[in-house]
Amino acid sequence: MDLTSYAELAVLLINSPDRLTGLDGLHALLREGRRYRPGCRITRSDLEALRDLREELIVVFEAAAGGEEQAVVDRLNSLLIQHPVQPQISGHDGERWHMHLTEGGRMADQYAVGAVMGLATLVTDLGVNRLGLCRAVPCRRAYLDTSSNRSRRYCSERCASRANVAAYRARRKGGGQ
Ligand SMILES: [Zn+2]
Ligand SMILES: [Zn+2]
Repeated sequence: MDLTSYAELAVLLINSPDRLTGLDGLHALLREGRRYRPGCRITRSDLEALRDLREELIVVFEAAAGGEEQAVVDRLNSLLIQHPVQPQISGHDGERWHMHLTEGGRMADQYAVGAVMGLATLVTDLGVNRLGLCRAVPCRRAYLDTSSNRSRRYCSERCASRANVAAYRARRKGGGQ
């Protein structure tokens, strides 16, 4: 199982504050993150737990963006203790046997275990500097830098070109007539 791909759950959560206003939005978020299992009960307590988790994950990404490696590691270690992996072999929906990181707890707990384990794996496999926050002000969406030369600075092509246009205008202004 590719654990680094689970880090996408952290990014999805940080970038989806609009999904955390009600249970309908949460259903949509879980479907997007492919964490939705039909019949799984989702309640207000999941919503609140995921809002709290989002705040904690933002702190991790802010520390990473600021180059504070030790702070990232400390935060992730404490999240790993709060959301322990309890692997189980599972088979469902006609899929072959595969691992789930945990089966117990609420939907929010399962989401948290995946997001935190994904980040921890990504950081240890590829480096803390792979976690980023978009530098196109005021965007600040989270992203994972999986480029080979670690050159990513924006959450999307849209933000990259917006920032390029802004930089071009600033240069023209600064250059005088
Ligand atoms: Zn499964
Ligand atoms: Zn952006």
